[in-house]
Amino acid sequence: MILTILVIEDHDQNRYLLQYLLEKHGFEVVAAADGPRGIEMARTRPPDLVLLDIQLPSMNGYEVAQELRRIPQGRDVPIVAVTSYAMKGDREKALAAGCDGHIEKPIDTATFVEQITRHLPPSSRPEEAPESRP
Ligand code: MN
Repeated sequence: MILTILVIEDHDQNRYLLQYLLEKHGFEVVAAADGPRGIEMARTRPPDLVLLDIQLPSMNGYEVAQELRRIPQGRDVPIVAVTSYAMKGDREKALAAGCDGHIEKPIDTATFVEQITRHLPPSSRPEEAPESRP
């Protein structure tokens, strides 16, 4: 099963880096450079997870998360904020806006995919051995 990740990020190099990393790990990536286009993509093709920049033009990431939670296609999708805001309280603000997690930039490319995989339902996590019981 191939999982689709929607990346909403306005900075080209960051978007390409995320896309590269995720595709290398077998995810399918759809990307948008701003919130309104990202929300439209989520409507037409509901993703399995959303990676959301906070500092975006026109709508900030908090507003995008709130809007995604209002549409049926976005109500239950895991949303992980990826933000360079390292101020105290940013995690709380992201969670209050409807995000499930918060990762600070610059991302750690060695652990990034593992960090986001935690937000996927266990049954759909890639590269995970089936649970075995003694
Ligand atoms: Mn940005």
